[in-house]
Amino acid sequence: MFSYRHAFHAGNHADVLKHTTLIAMMKYLTQKDTALTVIDTHAGAGLYRLDGDYTETSGEALEGVLKLIAPLAPPAPDAKPRKPAPPEVLAPALQDYLNVLKALNPQFAQTGEAAHLKIYPGSPFIEQQFLSGRDKLKLFELHPTDFKSLAGNIEQLGVGRQVTVSREDGFEVLKTFLPPPARRAMVFCDPSYEIKSDYARVSACMADAVKRFATGTYVVWYPIIPRPEAHDLPRKLKTLAVKAGRSWLNASLTVKSSKLTTDTAGEVIRPGLPASGMFVINPPHTLKADLQLALPQMVAKLGQDRHASFGLEHGG
Ligand code: SAM
Repeated sequence: MFSYRHAFHAGNHADVLKHTTLIAMMKYLTQKDTALTVIDTHAGAGLYRLDGDYTETSGEALEGVLKLIAPLAPPAPDAKPRKPAPPEVLAPALQDYLNVLKALNPQFAQTGEAAHLKIYPGSPFIEQQFLSGRDKLKLFELHPTDFKSLAGNIEQLGVGRQVTVSREDGFEVLKTFLPPPARRAMVFCDPSYEIKSDYARVSACMADAVKRFATGTYVVWYPIIPRPEAHDLPRKLKTLAVKAGRSWLNASLTVKSSKLTTDTAGEVIRPGLPASGMFVINPPHTLKADLQLALPQMVAKLGQDRHASFGLEHGG
C-alpha cells in the first residue's frame, strides 16, 4: 500500500501553485450554461487540519500558504532590492485562492491572521465550492484511510449525488466517463508519483482521454525533481497536445535550488521538493493572464533562495 499521505504536504508551495491554478480554471469553466463534469482522479482526503499532527510535523505549510498570507519580512538595511519586487496587492487569482480559504475559516476571514487558518481544502473541496446545480464532481481515491476521510468530509456537505466518491484507481476509471453527457469536462490528475510508473501512467491516461474526448480540459500536476521521468513528463504532455492539435499551457514554480548540500558534520541535506508544475491541455483562454500576474508574486512571497523563479509557456 502507498505511504504517501497528502496531510503531510497540505498547504505547501506546490499546493499554492496547484490550487491557485485550479481555482482560476474552475471559476472560468463554471460560468457557462452547459453542465460541467469535473473528474478528480487522485482526490486525497478533501480537507486537512493545518494544526493537526501531520501538517505540524512536516511544517510544509509554513513555506507555502502561511508564507503567502504573512507580511513580507523587511529586508536587511544592506540587502539588494528584491527581484521580483514584493507584491503590494495580491493578484486576483491569489485573492480568489485566499477567498476559498476564508470560506472554510471564518475566524481567518475576520482577522486575516495565519494563526486562524486552521483548515486547508484539498482539490475536492475547492472544486465543489464552484459547482452550480447542473454540474457534477466525481472523486477517486485509493488509500483506505484517505478514502474514508474523503467520503466522510463530502457526506457532511449534504450535496447528495452531485458529488460521488469512489475507492477506485483514478487512472483506470477515467476512460469510462469520457465523453461526458453534456460534452464539457475538466479532469484533474494529481498523483503522488511515489511509484515511478505513475509518470508513464499519467501520459498514457492523458493520451487515451484526449483521444476519447478531444475538447475536455485536462490538468496534470507534476513535481520538478532531478529524475528523468519527471523531466520528461511535461515534454510528453506537450507533444501529445501538439499532435492532437490542442492548445496547452505549462506553469511552474521553483522556490529553491534542487542541489544537495552538506551540513557542518558533512551530512548530505536533501532539499525537499524544490519546484513543481501544472500542465493544462485545452486551458481556459483567461488562464495565462491570471497566472502571469500571480506567478511573480508567488516567487516573491515563497522564494527561498536566488533560484526562485517561475515558468509560463503556452501554445496551440
Ligand atoms: N488532489 C489532492 C489535492 O489537491 O488536495 C491531493 C492528492 S495527493 C497528491 C495524491 C492522492 O492520490 C493520494 O491521496 C493517494 O492515496 C492517491 N492515489 C494514489 N494512486 C492512486 C490511484 N491510482 N487512483 C486514485 N488515487 C490514488
